[in-house]
Amino acid sequence: MAIQTVGIIGAGTMGNGIAQACAVSGIDVVLVDISDEAVRKGLATVSGSLDRLIKKEKISEADKAAALARIKTSTRYEDLAAAQLVIEAATENHALKIKILQQIDALLAPEAILASNTSSISITQLAAITSRADRFIGMHFFNPVPMMALVEIIRGLQTSDATHDTVKELAVRLGKSPITVKNAPGFVVNRILVPMINEAFFVLSEGLATAEDIDAGMKLGCNQPIGPLALADMIGLDVCLAVMEVYLEQFGDSKYRPSQLLKEMVAAGRLGRKTGRGVYQY
Ligand code: NAD
Repeated sequence: MAIQTVGIIGAGTMGNGIAQACAVSGIDVVLVDISDEAVRKGLATVSGSLDRLIKKEKISEADKAAALARIKTSTRYEDLAAAQLVIEAATENHALKIKILQQIDALLAPEAILASNTSSISITQLAAITSRADRFIGMHFFNPVPMMALVEIIRGLQTSDATHDTVKELAVRLGKSPITVKNAPGFVVNRILVPMINEAFFVLSEGLATAEDIDAGMKLGCNQPIGPLALADMIGLDVCLAVMEVYLEQFGDSKYRPSQLLKEMVAAGRLGRKTGRGVYQY
């Protein structure tokens, strides 16, 4: 199935980035959020991001106008009815996503595909609450979407090969390099990344090296663009801790226990850049 219109639910950080990636690739977008204010903010973010691409001479003014003309905004789910694919990128809340997905499932054409950009909720479980489990899939984009090449395509237990192939083809049309992953907590990238960050907190708490030297070691020795502790400050220490707690609970394996130092810093409100202090002071 060739996809010409993509519906996107949620015009926040991820939703507006996905809308931009689609629109610049010649795909029509219907971008839906709960309020006029939210869709207006989302569209303004896309416009500002396209302006930066013009400054860098990556696109022209005409390209920007064409991309914006492809994005229709709405606060009504009914306006998604003609989409061949709807990507849900609303707030990460399980109950909210179930409610949204059931409503969208009821109004889409039978052959349409429903995808979720969730970072932590089981794709198999979300698929099961719809009437189209074989046409349900995860599309896990990375932030900032217009810059990041990766999309993890998450196959639930019920996802059909046809659904996988259609979504993979779309990701390539968006200029992305998709990888295919079976559904499991953290998928691939975060499953490896967050325990690595947690291990950096263990190394720090054992006094093996300073934070600066741990980060320098991983940058210089592993070619990482940013050290794990500085990255934790960017992601938010509270987010890293919550992810480790989910892995510990869902895999039932003590290798995912969060570092005591990470827990202490979160308890102290040292959450990273967003609070001005995490491992480092900002
Ligand atoms: P966000 O808070 O920036 O945006 C969420 C948007 O959803 C908001 O604009 C909100 O108004 C809207 N929304 C809430 N309820 C809605 C409803 N009933 N109908 C329509 N819209 C609704 O969040 P985000 O960072 O863009 O995250 C969205 C999803 O993407 C989450 O599932 C998150 O786990 C996932 N994700 C986030 C990142 C990241 O780095 N931010 C990366 C990968 C995946």
